[in-house]
Amino acid sequence: MPIHQKNWAGNTPFNAAQFHQPTTITDLQEIVQKADKVHVIGSRHCFNDIADTTGDLISLNNLNNQATIDHTQHTATVNAGITYRELCPQLHAAGYALPNMASLDHITVIGACMSATHGSGDTLGNLATVVSGLEIVTANGDVITLTRDKDDDPFLGAVVALGALGVVSKITLDLVPAFTIQQHVYQKLPMTHLYESFDAIMGAGYSVSLFPTWQKDHVESLWVKQQVTEDVSVAVPTTLFDASLVDGHLWDNPPDRQWTPMGTPGPWFERLPHFSFNNAEQEGNELQSEYFVARHHAVDALKAVANLREHMAPILSTSEIRSVAADKLWLSTAYGQDVIGIHFNWLKDWTGVKQFLPILEAELSPFNPRPHWGKLFAINPEQIQAAYPRMADFQSLTREFDPNGKFRNAYVDRYILGTA
Ligand SMILES: Cc1cc2nc3c(=O)[nH]c(=O)nc-3n(C[C@H](O)[C@H](O)[C@H](O)COP(=O)(O)OP(=O)(O)OC[C@H]3O[C@@H](n4cnc5c(N)ncnc54)[C@H](O)[C@@H]3O)c2cc1C
Repeated sequence: MPIHQKNWAGNTPFNAAQFHQPTTITDLQEIVQKADKVHVIGSRHCFNDIADTTGDLISLNNLNNQATIDHTQHTATVNAGITYRELCPQLHAAGYALPNMASLDHITVIGACMSATHGSGDTLGNLATVVSGLEIVTANGDVITLTRDKDDDPFLGAVVALGALGVVSKITLDLVPAFTIQQHVYQKLPMTHLYESFDAIMGAGYSVSLFPTWQKDHVESLWVKQQVTEDVSVAVPTTLFDASLVDGHLWDNPPDRQWTPMGTPGPWFERLPHFSFNNAEQEGNELQSEYFVARHHAVDALKAVANLREHMAPILSTSEIRSVAADKLWLSTAYGQDVIGIHFNWLKDWTGVKQFLPILEAELSPFNPRPHWGKLFAINPEQIQAAYPRMADFQSLTREFDPNGKFRNAYVDRYILGTA
């Protein structure tokens, strides 16, 4: 039985005593019922100890991954541990799509939802916002369901829940009709335009990402993904805010991944992610952090980050700036407000990154940043708890669902219950 000893990036060990890969929900119920401490791993792509446990670590990757599509409700119900890579072609073949995706499709649907994973798009919520139902194996091994329509508050607390309420065994997702995307990259977007025309730039497509390294007076590249109706390439402007259209990709494929195609239309699930790994099991060679600030703070927050140019030069590969629409999920990083995610792809130099995070966070503190739950941050638990208006309700929900702390790990104790 393969035992995962570390996360994908290799920077966080798993301390589990046992590892399980149940093949049925009944097996899963029995494992959960017997265990003292449980957490589930998805594809292990988080960068901190969010998925760790000292007890029983479970993977759902041996459960049936056939999606059940409801053509009346326009939903899909499936094993929550399925990856987007396995799910999306099934949806597309049935004429459906998900409105948005993260930068990669190797992650599990439930791991993404539990950590409020997102893509970009001014009108697009994070990936958890399309969840309309959850089937959960609770601490005593019972199976319960929560739906958005019937359960309101507990449901809104349970979708982004860091694995703290139980094991989500099945998930129901709202679908939209399948669509086609064409993406293009522009290079050298002047910083002055970034600051003066931020909203217009982020609104230049269905999904827009900016990649600055902060070392120049321009943003190195601007990716614009637009919906197109035909399967033939659509002509696009050769300049955008004085950034120049690139023919194909600006960057060569790195050794571990391939960028998704530029300049040609293709199905949503082959264009919304930025890349796919050549070998998803290979240990990653990067670290990541990301902070979300209210959209109205975006330009001031970006200027604050730009001030730290010299600190970042030796440790940063690139940043990515994305927009995420507001939602009502209690622990969502976009709870109650449209946000901008300011993401950092660090070199694998934890010593350097660890020293810099408090400096970066101090610079962002006037904007009340919420860190990405699955990435690296140094913000103290009190500040994190204060950033979520429904935190007290989530703490109560945790105690109600899990009175004996079966699903609590060091991360949940530290950031949610404040007892570590
Ligand atoms: C190269 C790379 C690119 C990334 N790109 C993005 C991006 O574009 N956008 C973004 O927001 N993040 C991104 N991330 C961060 C990370 O991928 C996400 O947070 C991701 O969704 C984690 O999913 P996972 O399947 O790896 O979950 P894991 O890291 O394995 O687990 C995440 C959480 O989900 C819980 N969980 C897993 N399964 C269950 C279950 N069945 N029931 C209850 N809880 C469960 C775990 O216990 C843990 O708390 C990226 C990471 C990497 C390495």
